Amino acid sequence: MAVAQGQCPSCGAPIEFGLGSSIAKVCPYCQATVVRSDRGLENLGKVADMADTPCLIAVGDRGTLATRPFEVLGRVQLDHGAGPWDEFYVAFDYGQAWGWLAFAQGQWYVTQQVPGVSVPPRSMLQLEQDVPLGGQMFRVAEIKEGTIRSAEGELPEAFPVGFERHYVDLYAQGNGFATIDYGDGRGAYTVFIGYVFGESQMQVQQLGERHAREVQTDYMQCPNCGGNVPKLAGGRAERMGCPYCHAVTDIASRQIVAQQEAAMKQPDIPIGAVGNFEGVQYTCIAYLRRGTYYDNEHFSWEEYLLWSQGIGFRWLLKDPEKGWQWITPVNIADLDITQLPNGVIWGGRYFRNRDWGSAGVEYVLGEVYWKCEIGEVTRADDFVDGNDVLSREMTDTEVQWSYCQPIAWPVVAQGFGLPADGPGAQFQGGGGYGGGGAPASGCSKALGWLFIIGFLLFFCVAGTCGGAGGGGGGGVFVGGK
Ligand SMILES: [Zn+2]
Ligand SMILES: [Zn+2]
Repeated sequence: MAVAQGQCPSCGAPIEFGLGSSIAKVCPYCQATVVRSDRGLENLGKVADMADTPCLIAVGDRGTLATRPFEVLGRVQLDHGAGPWDEFYVAFDYGQAWGWLAFAQGQWYVTQQVPGVSVPPRSMLQLEQDVPLGGQMFRVAEIKEGTIRSAEGELPEAFPVGFERHYVDLYAQGNGFATIDYGDGRGAYTVFIGYVFGESQMQVQQLGERHAREVQTDYMQCPNCGGNVPKLAGGRAERMGCPYCHAVTDIASRQIVAQQEAAMKQPDIPIGAVGNFEGVQYTCIAYLRRGTYYDNEHFSWEEYLLWSQGIGFRWLLKDPEKGWQWITPVNIADLDITQLPNGVIWGGRYFRNRDWGSAGVEYVLGEVYWKCEIGEVTRADDFVDGNDVLSREMTDTEVQWSYCQPIAWPVVAQGFGLPADGPGAQFQGGGGYGGGGAPASGCSKALGWLFIIGFLLFFCVAGTCGGAGGGGGGGVFVGGK
């Protein structure tokens, strides 16, 4: 049932708007952006072809989020220089409401516009600042820009290609999430509030048309060597380190972003291995080596990225001195940060600042869910309570916290069905937290976005590469971008 209809001013094809909140529609025949107004339908010009992003949902799909029905009406594709990501315009409750859906870093984000909320200007906001929105306190985790690169379907406003959108992402306790969309950054803004959810909460009927190049297959072809690489995360990854030629590729754009030497050793946990931990099944999808310099000495450690469809991403870290660590993300809004920089309180426990440094990705194999931003520098702070560590990783535009606990190799080995006396059982030394040795790298994993470090440039030049970086695909800025 169309709320408005007419003819495409560019090609004459019929154009229908199904939702009252839809202002624009990309003509499916000629790719012109058609905007409706009192004067009728207007042609704003053609959009570019969509890049081949991980396409978990498509325009035309229907589904339920928890029990709430939705239909995907449109898609906007953005980029902040590290490769494209998508935001989906959805109708809820059979057209009674609308919002945005996006996927990033293994989780889904849903938001809806909330009118009448006043917020400070973007220039007044900083990372980790608390901002009240709609009766709830949110904390700033990301301050960025993204450029509109394409769009399709029906949209709540015109999204001119090349237009730069400024946004701020925030989190609240529980699973609260919000985006403040500052538009072109000149003053006007729109507030979108919603929440983060695991993929298992959403059921999707794939009714929408997939572009031929977006059809999901179990393999992706490495643009460097042509090898067929299994897609372990089911099309959810952003970058891939080829197991055959070791080149690192941006999956959406098919661009090779770095070349690497062959790995110096076989990963202790094979890429593709499936393991069970506390009743959850994970696939090991990537192996990374990361490093830092401390007193002119080079320290490095290994990281394994695990993927579970229902939960998202987790990390296992192997520190040569401290052994294996299990790493989970921490909601920034759950932290009492009033005692920074000395310490932080989380779950009633005080974690004291131990040290800080920065670290770079030196090597990556397999699939990762964030964009490699070579040259980006990240700072990592570690806060300790006993053997447990809270780690904060920060760039100029993003901050992320994670929690890291020791896990014995036999537990890891059992989970993955690997030998308890295998290579994973071997470390350099006893150590123990706080016992000297390596610096803050203890728990600083490439938790998604970031971390790219200054060394990156160096390593890339040296022929290894550094991945990492970049806001899990732009992070999450769901919102009326
Ligand atoms: Zn047309
Ligand atoms: Zn290859």
